[in-house]
Amino acid sequence: KPLLITIDGPAGAGKTTVSKALARCLGYRYVDTGALYRGVALAAKEKGVAPEDDDGLERLCTGLRLRFVVNEDGSRLFDGDRDISGLIRTSEISMLASAVSARPVVRKFLFDLQRRLGEEKNAVFEGRDMGTVVFPEAEVKFFLDASVEERARRRYDERSADETRTLEQIAEEIRTRDHNDRTRSHAPLKPANDAILLDSTAISIDQVVQSMLSRIKQ
Ligand code: C5P
Repeated sequence: KPLLITIDGPAGAGKTTVSKALARCLGYRYVDTGALYRGVALAAKEKGVAPEDDDGLERLCTGLRLRFVVNEDGSRLFDGDRDISGLIRTSEISMLASAVSARPVVRKFLFDLQRRLGEEKNAVFEGRDMGTVVFPEAEVKFFLDASVEERARRRYDERSADETRTLEQIAEEIRTRDHNDRTRSHAPLKPANDAILLDSTAISIDQVVQSMLSRIKQ
């Protein structure tokens, strides 16, 4: 039976690693919806649209041609013919994505796009509101959490060579994004009523994946 699997949770809980591993084990597609919010944020930065300017954001979204391309480098995000995968992975874009994601015009635009991407099942969708808003009908929903300290430590351990921030600064960014994501009026981050809750603070990513696989097979 074709399945749609959703994985929601806060920044740094291990969702990306877990979602990719799960998709690989099952032979499913992996869709990173955070990348779409980051794509909108990048366009806003480049076009000089403020995150509070709803009319500007709406025009911006209408002009975007976001699409995922799966190749030997994994899943890449393109806007039209331009590969923006590298440009969206900065802390500036993380914070801007968190700001534009609070705007209903942006969520509405990406809702439609995500629904189209979900028409073909056998996919793992990673995000913040996959199980609650975008795919309430998904067959299997997970909510992956971990303590702020552990999430910051993982981000710090995986930091790129040009990262200049301290562990405490990374923790502060995570706290700010968590606060924005959990308190926004539109689609706040929370587990769906029928989500399976997992906490990766004390267990390895591999154990999380094993536990998910056993829940899916049940
Ligand atoms: O998952 P990632 O950290 O790449 O997401 C970037 C930002 O996009 C998050 O901080 C969140 O504000 C927003 N987001 C969202 N809904 C999603 C995915 C991401 O609001 N489904």
